[in-house]
Amino acid sequence: MKKSYKIDVDCASCADKMEQAAKATAGVRDAVVNFMTLKMSVEFDDGADHKAVMQDVLKACKRVESDCEIYL
Ligand SMILES: [Zn+2]
Repeated sequence: MKKSYKIDVDCASCADKMEQAAKATAGVRDAVVNFMTLKMSVEFDDGADHKAVMQDVLKACKRVESDCEIYL
């Protein structure tokens, strides 16, 4: 399953950090952050609870870039 989320982040380098953090989160198969459109698209593992996974993604992203936001 794939979902797209609106995000807020100040620069392309932080967007890249968010992408890496999302990719490293359990339940995430792949993640792509587009700084131009401020969107994060996430592909989840089969059977993953996307809502729970996104809470973890948000926490992981806040850890690398405290100013970022993901609108869940
Ligand atoms: Zn930045």
